[in-house]
Amino acid sequence: MLTLDDASRRLLERAHPSAAETVALTDAAGRVLADPKVLAAVDVPAFANSAMDGFAVRAADLPGTLRVVGEVAAGAGDLPAVEPGTAVRIMTGAPMPPGANAVVPIEDASVAEGAVTVGAAVPPAQHVRAAAHDTRAGDEICLPGELAPAKLAVLASLGLGSVEVRRRPVVALLSTGDELVAPGVSLGPGQIHDANGIALAAAVTEAGGRPLLLPRERDDEQAIERALTDAAGRADIIVTSGGVSVGEHDYVRAVLERRGSLAFWRIAVQPGKPLAVGELGGTTVIGLPGNPVSALVTFELFVRPFIRAMLGLVGDGRLRVRARPETRMGKDVDRRAFLRVSLWAQDGEVRARSAGGQLSSQLRPMADANALLIVPEGEPAAETDRAYEAIVLEPWR
Ligand code: AMP
Ligand code: MG
Repeated sequence: MLTLDDASRRLLERAHPSAAETVALTDAAGRVLADPKVLAAVDVPAFANSAMDGFAVRAADLPGTLRVVGEVAAGAGDLPAVEPGTAVRIMTGAPMPPGANAVVPIEDASVAEGAVTVGAAVPPAQHVRAAAHDTRAGDEICLPGELAPAKLAVLASLGLGSVEVRRRPVVALLSTGDELVAPGVSLGPGQIHDANGIALAAAVTEAGGRPLLLPRERDDEQAIERALTDAAGRADIIVTSGGVSVGEHDYVRAVLERRGSLAFWRIAVQPGKPLAVGELGGTTVIGLPGNPVSALVTFELFVRPFIRAMLGLVGDGRLRVRARPETRMGKDVDRRAFLRVSLWAQDGEVRARSAGGQLSSQLRPMADANALLIVPEGEPAAETDRAYEAIVLEPWR
């Protein structure tokens, strides 16, 4: 059996960055810039402006009473000049009028009959946002990772209407198993609903890929071969679930060996040991085990980093913390375990509670968990007197 680290390394060697494409900024949320470095072409802000609603003044005139000679609102282009002894009413974000070098907030001024009186001196530049105080033209701005709201705001403020992003890798998803029927369809004897297709499609989207959900296939070698061969021409990665174990009807591996190649099979992880990786028609195939918990955990460990590598991103993008279990949780001694837990903080320490039964057939704890607690190879259990590394999953999971 391969260790997780060896298997991950061998898999990621197969990931190549996807091509760049141009998208409108309005379609760029969640995408990844093809080049994280953006050269600012403009100053932000382009002009000095007021940080407050108040009066634009010459600081040297104060304290004193000033004649109010005009008003500038945000967006104003025509600016009255501030001569000695005068002031201009100004709103937040409005350009500083020529001659003014400070702003007195409306709260600090008394206004009467076209004049404003300020009782105290003000320092030059008070409440003035200097031109380019956020970004200067020529600055190199680095925006790695998914385009989250604030990164989109930076790009918008730089005036960009479109950006070059990495194409989302297309991930074909194939659920295999004679027992599977679509959710929403009533079950015949011995049948179960296909939980992996829908779950893996959501996980692909979350990781930054584009899911291509293929029709389910029965445990039929020819059918699986046809489906994989067809998908190889349409997808950047093929992810199957089921049929990679040692059952009589496990054909995914056999098809890889016969029609493409099997790079490796069986990883020392719990859950998810039978994972298989290979290639067919030049496309990487990742064969996940059929149990939905195993499929989702191995997706997290293998497929998510693969999709992200194609987007030019490093690692799984998950926060890792150290957490101490509330109760002892047993595991297979030889394999690295990924236990489904809920984390919470207590007295400055992160604690982990088992999210429920840890059998790979127990799906609901996976839905309740917000983290995977990692218990190393060679250990029989997660103990309560020490902390373990945990992978924090997205909050909405
Ligand atoms: P397999 O990896 O094909 O041996 O399947 C392992 C277990 O996972 C079996 O109990 C299957 O019935 C179950 N299973 C396989 N595929 C799915 C699926 N798409 N949705 C839900 N359970 C599945
Ligand atoms: Mg099966």
